[in-house]
Amino acid sequence: MKTLRLILGDQLNQSHSWFQQVRDDNHYVMMEIRPEATYVRHHIQKVAGFFAAMRRFARHLEEQGHSITYLAFDDESNRHDFEKNVRRLLEKTGARRFQYQLPDEFRLDEQFRGWTASLSIEAEAVDSEHFMTSRDELGRFFEGKKTYVMEPFYREIRRRFDLLMEGEKPRGGQWNYDAENRSALPEDTPLPETAAISHDLSDIVKMIRQEEIQTIGEINESDFRWPLCREEALFVLQHFLDHSLKNFGRYQDAMTSDEPFLFHSRLSFAFNLKMISPLEVVQKTINYWETEKQTIDIAQVEGFVRQIIGWREYMRGIYWATMPEFEQLNFFGHKRELPDWFWTGETKMQCLSQAIGQSLRQSYAHHIQRLMITGNFANLAGIHPDQVDEWYLGIYIDAIQWVEITNTRGMSQFADGGITATKPYVSSANYIRKMSNYCSSCDYDPRSRHGENACPFNSLYWAYFEKHRDKLEGNPRIGMAYHHLKRMDSEKKKKILDQAQTYLNRLESL
Ligand code: FAD
Ligand code: SF4
Repeated sequence: MKTLRLILGDQLNQSHSWFQQVRDDNHYVMMEIRPEATYVRHHIQKVAGFFAAMRRFARHLEEQGHSITYLAFDDESNRHDFEKNVRRLLEKTGARRFQYQLPDEFRLDEQFRGWTASLSIEAEAVDSEHFMTSRDELGRFFEGKKTYVMEPFYREIRRRFDLLMEGEKPRGGQWNYDAENRSALPEDTPLPETAAISHDLSDIVKMIRQEEIQTIGEINESDFRWPLCREEALFVLQHFLDHSLKNFGRYQDAMTSDEPFLFHSRLSFAFNLKMISPLEVVQKTINYWETEKQTIDIAQVEGFVRQIIGWREYMRGIYWATMPEFEQLNFFGHKRELPDWFWTGETKMQCLSQAIGQSLRQSYAHHIQRLMITGNFANLAGIHPDQVDEWYLGIYIDAIQWVEITNTRGMSQFADGGITATKPYVSSANYIRKMSNYCSSCDYDPRSRHGENACPFNSLYWAYFEKHRDKLEGNPRIGMAYHHLKRMDSEKKKKILDQAQTYLNRLESL
């Protein structure tokens, strides 16, 4: 019986069991469609990168002998709708069965469930064979609990897959080396080059412009530097292991002007399109470390492993345990509009100008820039989480809702009231000054809380805790902030709160 199999743009997993045998009775279909390219205004590198990687994958399957229809965006027969394209191909190929891999987005999962049920032939959803845990595993792991905590989930995965373990005990005697992974970058630290990958995507970019797909950000179309297939992703991984792993954990929270990548792997795009799998990356990393123990300490390796099998699997679990309610959560009732400069980077605040400018240029910012610069500011300023989500979902090359919204609405905005994180990740200028060199070239003074040129993060930080006292004061993890507020001189406190209000009234001109 002939089967039509749909492959989505983030399902480029060569190792999937579907592709291990070439069979005449399977026909594959991939498609570039307008709703996917426009459900949010994506970064130009994200749209071009997805299309280019999808085209590569289709070519690879063809070279392997698989039979495939690839519907490019400007293909005349493309109806720009999953259901319509599939129905036409079912008719054309005479397939009597339809299969698709489970989508990672709730939106698509619902859509597919709906229209596939109305097909007159058998329709089946199969696993995407990428993640280490199943969709509903986290929900079961924390059954009956109101909040989740990453650490026990992470330990369970370490045990199950025997990763960095010595019997029942963690290698090195500790599960977690987080405390050693918080150093600022000393000046003049030599930084690794990025892996030597370059693609000419001029044709795709031309098509995107001709088809009037609205995008944001910049692209150097003749020098696109993200991996587009499994081999390139493995090359980037090897480059990371050879040049960056030894400093990964130590400097993973550090930020420096005009240095977007530091010791980060830049693997998230390849991961999220499933070019590589989390288990293989973690195993390769641990094997590499086994041979390089003289130069790489365990804190660096554990830090990297935790991001992938800890945070990444955990966020996916939260997504499936809490959607669709999660995308409506707004714990603080934040309502303000995202300032326009989030789309240009034109603000006097050096940290935000750097993080946003870099995101527009590279479609990338590392975790702490996303969490403690842009996310921190949006939360302190009370921006509506829908607008914050829209920005993050559009701007980053790795942004797919399951991992974007849990990190943004959950971890960074605390709009979930503490499902994802045990406390809001907000800070005053003190943290930013310690972890970056941004403040040294800023118009604002990181040490002032009020008065001319006082850093906005300082007054907004105290006003935030004052405003959300009823929701946060009982949280034992932030007792210090309220202790501090209690002891603050009332005149000084008034000046700080007035300063915050002045800034909130003119967010656009900060
Ligand atoms: P590295 O620092 O080298 O880390 C290695 C890998 O660990 C990453 O490739 C990624 O797959 C994984 N990882 C690390 N942190 C996280 C995390 N918190 N959640 C899930 N996986 C993690 N990541 C995305 O993949 N897509 C997103 O849309 C996204 N949005 C984010 C929004 C906010 C507000 C925040 C705070 C974080 C977000 N992250 C997102 C997580 C993280 O910032 C990126 O995964 C990371 O910056 C990607 O760069 P890298 O590959 O160089 O990562
Ligand atoms: Fe950011 Fe304030 Fe430092 Fe300026 S002074 S870079 S606004 S933290």
